[in-house]
Amino acid sequence: TSLVHLGEHLKVPTNPYLGITSFVLSQFPHPHVAESKIAYIDSSTNQELTFAQVKRSIQSLASGLYHLGIRKGDVVFVLSPNSILYPIMCLAIFSLGAILSPANPINTPSEIAKQVLDSGAKLAISATEELHKLKPTGVPIIVTYGQSSDEDFISIEELIKCCDPHDDELPETKINQSDTAAILYSSGTTGTSKGVILTHSNFITMCRLVKWNAEGTSSLNDVFLGFIPIFHIYGLGFFGIGLLCAGVTSVLMPKFDFQAMLDAIETHKVNNLPAVPPVILNLVKYCKGNSKLSSLRRIGSGAAPLSKELTDAFREQFPWIELRQGYGLTESTGATSVFVSDEDAKAHPGSCGRLLPMFCAKIVDVETGLGLPPYKEGELWLKGPTIMKGYLGNEEATAATFDKDGWLKTGDLGYFDADGFLYIVDRIKELIKHNGYQVAPAELEAVLLSHPKVVDAAVIPIADEESGQIPMAYVVKAAGAKLTQEEVIQFVAGQVAPYKKVRRVGFIDTIPKSAAGKILRKQLILQSQQQILSK
Ligand code: AMP
Repeated sequence: TSLVHLGEHLKVPTNPYLGITSFVLSQFPHPHVAESKIAYIDSSTNQELTFAQVKRSIQSLASGLYHLGIRKGDVVFVLSPNSILYPIMCLAIFSLGAILSPANPINTPSEIAKQVLDSGAKLAISATEELHKLKPTGVPIIVTYGQSSDEDFISIEELIKCCDPHDDELPETKINQSDTAAILYSSGTTGTSKGVILTHSNFITMCRLVKWNAEGTSSLNDVFLGFIPIFHIYGLGFFGIGLLCAGVTSVLMPKFDFQAMLDAIETHKVNNLPAVPPVILNLVKYCKGNSKLSSLRRIGSGAAPLSKELTDAFREQFPWIELRQGYGLTESTGATSVFVSDEDAKAHPGSCGRLLPMFCAKIVDVETGLGLPPYKEGELWLKGPTIMKGYLGNEEATAATFDKDGWLKTGDLGYFDADGFLYIVDRIKELIKHNGYQVAPAELEAVLLSHPKVVDAAVIPIADEESGQIPMAYVVKAAGAKLTQEEVIQFVAGQVAPYKKVRRVGFIDTIPKSAAGKILRKQLILQSQQQILSK
């Protein structure tokens, strides 16, 4: 058969007028428990928030944002590292029927301005240290958070402190499950970043799935560590919303630091660590016999491929820690396949697990578009209740991403085995992933083409043991122009966030292109591999 189903059914709320915040709050522990049960701990300050405090803060902040003029359908841009206030911001925004649009705080001012403009943000919430990047964007209202040195702006902390959680003036907002809840940015299969439209229903189902998965494997006493950024769907799904429904404690790290991660695991007796492959590689390389890891019971891996070799090495070194890989994308509100048992994970190294309940997938021949049986490699197509509505204001990209029957074309190459375990083997879309972060070649090509001595350019991924992939640029110089590799690297580095930097440059006479003018990236990738081999 060419179709693969997990076949499991999961009950999801059918009330069409249910918003994600109401759903999450309905999953909170009983009020007696919520007063003392810790929902979040800040790993740098040890500040704690109970579930009851989280609930009151969401209601106060919603009231504050309402009084600042935020209404249903307004977009709120958030520029912040992980913080115990981040989930509160998200859920307060959702409760008003407003739309969250988060961004990476290390993005450059021009990258931020682009997202503010594209999403049509009416209000921006910014960590104080990033405020200088937001002021020039012209966003109508700015709210800060963190140590506020700038008295021109009101802070989230002030709003939470001053606004009544039971504000009588706050009218109840009627939210439909099909309303947009968030716009996250992803380059999809081609081109530059686009706004991925995710609905309340997408998030409600995602929360149900996180809870379902936790019920099978976690206990209420579990402690999760969150360095995965909440501005990315992986962090938003777990630490922003999902784990609140599972009733567990999350320790949040404002930024990733390997040593600080080990210290936090030890201090807070963390037993669950959602991670990415580079972190798993570093644990294998540097943590043999490290007693700081003794409380860990489970590590998840997502956002990029985890090899069978690394999985085997990890298991041998840390036999008491379960290692489970999952697969998903922003366009599917996060995970679509996971492992539900350690036996399954051990028996299928290199696999990303089985489809989550309610998902449907098929593997499609890239040339013919026909469905393929188990063990045959092809493009993975997905259907399911967490799949995005489409790309904001970009009908062309939306139409190209879905087939006529509504399948989402992931741009990932993989296969299923006979038992429905998924293996992702390659990426056929342009996307480069550096440490799990998205780098869109088209964006770097546009920067390169703006250099006066560059007449053409193409960016491709190069495999890298530490970070997964690094971007390499092939550049065609203008006739007679003098340009060094270092100059190209510096030119791009000056205009993009650090994780997007071009890290290798090759000069070439012409960029290979198809008759339709599309860059033949596969050809360049092969060429780069041959050059590396011949060195
Ligand atoms: P993002 O939208 O940033 O989450 O990126 C999604 C993309 O990351 C997917 O389409 C894959 O190319 C890649 N990805 C995520 N998880 C995995 C995985 N477990 N194995 C291989 N690639 C993955």
